[in-house]
Amino acid sequence: MKVDEALDLIAEIPDFPEPGILFRDLTPLFGDPAAFATVIDALGDVVGPDADVLAAVEARGFVLAAAVGYARGLGVALVRKPGKLPSVAARVDYALEYGTATLELPEGSLRAGQRVAVVDDVLATGGTVEATAKLVEGAGARVSGVAVVLELAALGGRARLAGLPVTALRTC
Ligand code: 5GP
Repeated sequence: MKVDEALDLIAEIPDFPEPGILFRDLTPLFGDPAAFATVIDALGDVVGPDADVLAAVEARGFVLAAAVGYARGLGVALVRKPGKLPSVAARVDYALEYGTATLELPEGSLRAGQRVAVVDDVLATGGTVEATAKLVEGAGARVSGVAVVLELAALGGRARLAGLPVTALRTC
């Protein structure tokens, strides 16, 4: 299956989670084995050869990064929403496209000097990846690249992440 064919499965849901937001729903893509494999392979290709480890934000980021990590032979740092971790290395608050949020990095998930590729489903305002990058840098590691399935260009995430190499399988 071609990458574009897989990405065409992404649904557009108007007014979710709030009026005026057009939510991109990857559920049909995750549920289609050929499309899922195609997207995982494509993300694996854009995670640079120099990455030592992946970082992903729950929940859809976990699904993608786990599969990419397996395919590429890389581990995954699982960045969590608050209140889930027994031992928190660092915490950061950030603004979302809708609302605010907090992310936490588990103790022992990253080592100083590691090159970290961030994997997620959608890049919107860039707040989530920016917060993840702060957690990575706070651990003494550095972001080697950002790989997302979909970039919503109008929301300016790429500009906000100036300096980080961002690759999206599709920009819309
Ligand atoms: P940002 O922080 O870049 O504004 O938003 C990106 C984060 O919010 C990602 O972790 C992503 O999962 C979620 N997100 C924002 N907009 C959408 C969307 O339209 N569809 C999906 N699936 N996730 C979104």
